[in-house]
Amino acid sequence: MKILVVNCGSSSLKYQLIDMDTQDVLASGLAERIGMTGIGQLTHKPTGKEKVYSEQPFPDHQVAIELVLKRLVDPVCGVITSMEEIDAVGHRVLHGGMKCTESAIINDYVLAAIEECVPLGPLHNPANLIGIRACEAILPGVPQVAVFDTAFHQTMPDYAYLYPIPYEYFEKHQLRKYGFHGTSHRYVTMRAQEMLGTDKFKLVTCHLGNGASCAAVLDGKVMDTSMGLTPLDGLCMGTRSGTVDPAVVKFLCDKEGYTVDEVDTILNKKSGILGVSGVSNDFRDVEKAMNEGNDRARLALDIFYYRVRMTIGQYAAALGGLDAILFTAGVGENSAYARTRILEGLEFLGIEIDETENAKRGEELFINTPDSKVKVMVVPTNEELMIALDTKELVEKL
Ligand code: ADP
Repeated sequence: MKILVVNCGSSSLKYQLIDMDTQDVLASGLAERIGMTGIGQLTHKPTGKEKVYSEQPFPDHQVAIELVLKRLVDPVCGVITSMEEIDAVGHRVLHGGMKCTESAIINDYVLAAIEECVPLGPLHNPANLIGIRACEAILPGVPQVAVFDTAFHQTMPDYAYLYPIPYEYFEKHQLRKYGFHGTSHRYVTMRAQEMLGTDKFKLVTCHLGNGASCAAVLDGKVMDTSMGLTPLDGLCMGTRSGTVDPAVVKFLCDKEGYTVDEVDTILNKKSGILGVSGVSNDFRDVEKAMNEGNDRARLALDIFYYRVRMTIGQYAAALGGLDAILFTAGVGENSAYARTRILEGLEFLGIEIDETENAKRGEELFINTPDSKVKVMVVPTNEELMIALDTKELVEKL
């Protein structure tokens, strides 16, 4: 079975074609500048062959997907002989709200639910819908599956997801904590289950990339997570502030004359390690600047490590103990320094790191010493494979 995994942003489209018999990625790629004036770009990477770069206007997502399919069946850079080899399409969808608690075959009910969640995911859900409709038009009759970024977190208890504000806002607008990166947290939890050899565990998963979030997972179910109504909450991130006193918004409006929208942009796009360091939103650049003596780069990273460390402590309390901590995504997978700094001072929880193992990269591994009471794992995330696995499972039941 071959599955096309599609991740539509407002002006971009990422894809992977995966052979589910071997779980090999046959091709991947990215189309950019969709729906914008001027030229769009498509970078198509067939596995084991030269990558192909093309430019043409993409007035909408359908035109971009048409070109993607053309590349996939191309005699030179293609990886399949006909579009009929695509058995199903799996879509990443940002927000499933409270109705979509797991992945689902796309039908009218699911489409309406995604539409209903547009106010909760105003940038992503409309783009996800456009992608789904474009694939339906080009691949009629091919089953399509939606995999939601919020779904894995839907097991949180009410006292974890409800904000202590007047209850009517929850009733009227479903205003509550949802959490994001769910597909990644679920994939690494699945791998942790296999690596630990049990499905009974108290685990904290740390997805640390440009966007960052932690999840407290009990026996495979999320009990809490650090992002909230939107992906702005929680840890300090590349450009996002994470949790701040909500009064910061009014304070900045009063002092600087900003509108609420302007403060929202500042907190989402100009804060985090970029805002504090003044150097970059890229962790590698900020680590480099710190090593060259830039004190604000040092401070930005200290805030980041401190917040992840505190969140691990909070979640140990929420879970009533801790069996394992897992690191994933750009920083979590690649920065041994970040992992060491985050876990600094947590020896009292029974955490001991083996720095030789910690220095390794690019593979699933345990980085704790044999005596460490808490296991510490590094697992490369693979959201596309998770989407493809769900798609396969649901399509096989049709
Ligand atoms: P996203 O998918 O949220 O854009 P990623 O998971 O790809 O993010 O993570 C990107 C971040 O990971 C970047 O800020 C990058 O600097 C950081 N990163 C990648 N490799 C390293 C490394 N070796 N050391 C420190 N940070 C790294």
